[in-house]
Amino acid sequence: MPPSPRSRASMISEENARTKILEAVRPLPPRKVSILQALDHFAAEDYFARLPLPNFDNSAMDGYAVLANDCKPDRRLRVAGEQPAGLDRRLRVSNGEAVRIFTGAPMPAGADAVVMQEDVTRDGDEITVNVDVEVDEFVRKRGCDLGEGQKIFGKGERIRATKLPLLASQGFAEVLVDGEVRAAIISTGDELAKLGEKLEPGKIYDSNTALLQSLLKRCGAVVASAENCRDDADSLRKAIQSTAKKEILIVSGGVSVGEHDLVQKTLRDLGAKIDIWRVAIKPGKPFLFGQLGGCFVFGLPGNPVSAFVTFLQFVRPAILKMMGASDLDLPRMPAKLTVDLINQSERAHYVRGEFENGNFAPVGRQESHALFGLSQSNALLRVETGESLKAGETVHIQVWE
Ligand code: AMP
Ligand code: MG
Repeated sequence: MPPSPRSRASMISEENARTKILEAVRPLPPRKVSILQALDHFAAEDYFARLPLPNFDNSAMDGYAVLANDCKPDRRLRVAGEQPAGLDRRLRVSNGEAVRIFTGAPMPAGADAVVMQEDVTRDGDEITVNVDVEVDEFVRKRGCDLGEGQKIFGKGERIRATKLPLLASQGFAEVLVDGEVRAAIISTGDELAKLGEKLEPGKIYDSNTALLQSLLKRCGAVVASAENCRDDADSLRKAIQSTAKKEILIVSGGVSVGEHDLVQKTLRDLGAKIDIWRVAIKPGKPFLFGQLGGCFVFGLPGNPVSAFVTFLQFVRPAILKMMGASDLDLPRMPAKLTVDLINQSERAHYVRGEFENGNFAPVGRQESHALFGLSQSNALLRVETGESLKAGETVHIQVWE
């Protein structure tokens, strides 16, 4: 069926929606945190190595520091001293000598190689070297891994578990990271029952709060509060008034066109500026974005898959921008499509699927209420309006796990 011009006219494109949101939000002021709290935050400035790695020439083995060209099989050397790790005894190795050395210990002056203890025979104050030894063998040279002044990571980069110890190796006790994004969640709907409650006929358990809490945590925001609210103007007004004090407020449900969808009207009554309502995205059309005081309000459709897709496409990049991230997009991967797909709707369709061994296969029911289907998926494929894709084609998918 061709798209009806009326419904298309009342939606804005996904690209415009994203642009509007990203123009509205700004990076928050950065703050200093201890490096242990910096995990998964974004660096708010460039970081450079204050120390080379390694910081001094040291031994890669427990063994003997020697002069390489002084060693051949059966060569006997006098053990002139012992160099443990942790204290530089400023020893020197001359021809005919070796210094007992341990992993991580500074190389004595004169020595240019370490011979493993397994490759020598010790006899009192002497060793017999049983192998040929090459210059620099088992020596970790100063700066071979990282040079002093070298950039270790850039502003806006996420501080991952492998970057954090690098900061520690440089002696940084604190790091300047992004500002904290605090988010309040209101899940609306008369049908919602809290987890643990008895389920009365006609009710459903609230699954969106758990979804939104997980997604917020995943992108590094702090869940400041989460509450349920009935589809009743008074309760909604009170709930919004008391929570729209953080950086962002996410309201789930109640943003569509039914008589019980009161979110937009309530926001307007409270003086909010509504920047976006209805986007050409499937699922997720009723998505709403506005500002109430200094708080950015995201109204997500109540259907779980719609809430999921609109969170990833609109809320996630906004949070990442507020956190000062340089990359706001989900990772994209090439994948081989396993089936034919055609999008005849007037909205870009985000197909949920499983990405495995380089293939992308749509999974579960592709309807906005189909939470089980969503739970089996690990990637999204955006199919443009009017686009027709063939099985075997390479497509670019978004992955979130
Ligand atoms: P709404 O956007 O309020 O019109 O709701 C659309 C659909 O999503 C309805 O079937 C609701 O029951 C469902 N829904 C709304 N909120 C939630 C929620 N928190 N958890 C699970 N489903 C919900
Ligand atoms: Mg509702």
